Amino acid sequence: MCRHLGWLGRPRTLAELMLEPPHSLLVQSYAPRRQRHGLLNADGWGAGFFDVSGGGPPRRWRSAAPLWGDASFASVAPALASGCVVAAVRSATAGMPIEASATAPFTDGTWLLSHNGVVNRAVLPTAEGAESVCDSAILAAAVFARGPETLGELIPEIGAADPGARLNVLAADGSRLLATTWGDTLSMLHGADGVVLASEPYDDDPRWVDIPDRHLVEAHGGQVRVTALDGIR
Ligand code: GLN
Repeated sequence: MCRHLGWLGRPRTLAELMLEPPHSLLVQSYAPRRQRHGLLNADGWGAGFFDVSGGGPPRRWRSAAPLWGDASFASVAPALASGCVVAAVRSATAGMPIEASATAPFTDGTWLLSHNGVVNRAVLPTAEGAESVCDSAILAAAVFARGPETLGELIPEIGAADPGARLNVLAADGSRLLATTWGDTLSMLHGADGVVLASEPYDDDPRWVDIPDRHLVEAHGGQVRVTALDGIR
């Protein structure tokens, strides 16, 4: 189970979001607080973000090495600011390749997507363009093919096809941030300057709210909507 984080709001640096908080993704890479599956997230990390000026494809920096050892990223991250970020640290599922292309965030050139969990690849709808044979990369391709706007229908469908799947997905396109909970943790910090969605809180701010399991979170234009995924939406 990896840990991921999304930000939508005023421009913030990747260092502020990923490295500086007391329980940042950096700390979560070796000492996560709420992780139920796996102890460490040492199998790589990735940061994806949209330019502050708006428009254009997302930019990504991914690695198959642990985040804690990346002195180059630590040096540059304070200078990389964005109003829309998807970042993750990875604990590879047994049997999945450990390579940068298997590391979130994945992209179709418009959206960024991260997956916390595991899914049987055989139940996923076939889609072109998976970046890796990793389950998360194939899931990302399936979501991109259907359109991340349909996550609210697609995740329950995949969950029904693979009852053992854990399907916490986080996706963003520069102006929208979407997330599902399906088998693992997700917390939200919604402040005046934007919204953070994270597998676990990166600090002890009392405003963090835990999102219940099997829910969809949609953030756009300063508003956040949380809806149940089971039953009629
Ligand atoms: N199954 C994915 C992988 O192997 C995600 C793993 C996870 O969430 N720990 O990378």
